[in-house]
Amino acid sequence: MRTDRDGGGGLVGRTFDVKRFAIHDGPGIRSTVFFTGCPMRCAWCHNPEAFALVEPGHAESELCLRDWTVEELVRELERDIPYYDRSGGGITLSGGEPLEQAEFSIELLKTCRRRELHTALDTSGCAESGVLEKAAANCDLILYDLKAIDDEVHRRWTGVSNVTILENLEMLDGLDVETWIRVPLIPGVNDDPDAIEAMIGFLRGTRFRRVSVLPYHRIAAGKYARLGLTNRMAGVEPPSGEEVEAVRAQFAGAGFDPWVGR
Ligand code: SF4
Repeated sequence: MRTDRDGGGGLVGRTFDVKRFAIHDGPGIRSTVFFTGCPMRCAWCHNPEAFALVEPGHAESELCLRDWTVEELVRELERDIPYYDRSGGGITLSGGEPLEQAEFSIELLKTCRRRELHTALDTSGCAESGVLEKAAANCDLILYDLKAIDDEVHRRWTGVSNVTILENLEMLDGLDVETWIRVPLIPGVNDDPDAIEAMIGFLRGTRFRRVSVLPYHRIAAGKYARLGLTNRMAGVEPPSGEEVEAVRAQFAGAGFDPWVGR
């Protein structure tokens, strides 16, 4: 977790993109803020620029990094208020992992709330529980990634254990914040019926019923090449429509409200 400050002691946040008119990062039309930094290294990550800058030897010139004060960023995000209002949209904090810059992210959430902007936090859950709890208390929707229940599989493909991630999800279960689960569907990692059944078994014990199934795609392959990063998913084909539908149906059959997203 990092905190940067400007010359006057104000918080500074670092992003690698701010995407306007996003329609896959929560309800309505949204602006999605992509923060740098992530403690995980998912083999299928489609935003490797989030962590490339913290690994020596990767060209920052490939990255569109920008530092903001909270006020500067909110002013930028407020440009699209008419679209948020008409569509029921708002602001999504994503990355990378927004809680890697927790102080800035929480201050951004608080400021958006004061200005009556709907907020969503797209998180891996790989964060201190107190930090996640504070962020949850200041946002309207959590988008929570669930990648694998088997810890050995989780470690092998993301670089970290899922123990804290699952504990944090249980902690969120006790809070009054709307939470959507996001399952990246990754061939050879978590796409077999037993792996999905293990997720269903875990989620059954919670209040969470909305599940977005996000099929693996190869859109980021070029980024890995440009950044000089090893692409562990090279040659892996995206799941077919039938395979995605089978997973959707498995969640639906277990009483969940599954959506196929991207
Ligand atoms: S948690 Fe998200 S941003 Fe971080 S490495 Fe995994 S997919 Fe990428």
